[in-house]
Amino acid sequence: MVTRWLLRCVECGRTWYLEVSFDLTKLSSRRLYHFCPHCRRNTFHEVVTRED
Ligand SMILES: [Zn+2]
Repeated sequence: MVTRWLLRCVECGRTWYLEVSFDLTKLSSRRLYHFCPHCRRNTFHEVVTRED
């Protein structure tokens, strides 16, 4: 089952959707290191909301 998550890049402040099959709220830091399509490099992201 895939869930859509709204992420905010802490570098550029932009938000975008990521579809993954695991629960991002289980992250201990609540931050995800991932490729940002706007920065075009790996940055930290805050999990804004979950869209079912
Ligand atoms: Zn970014």
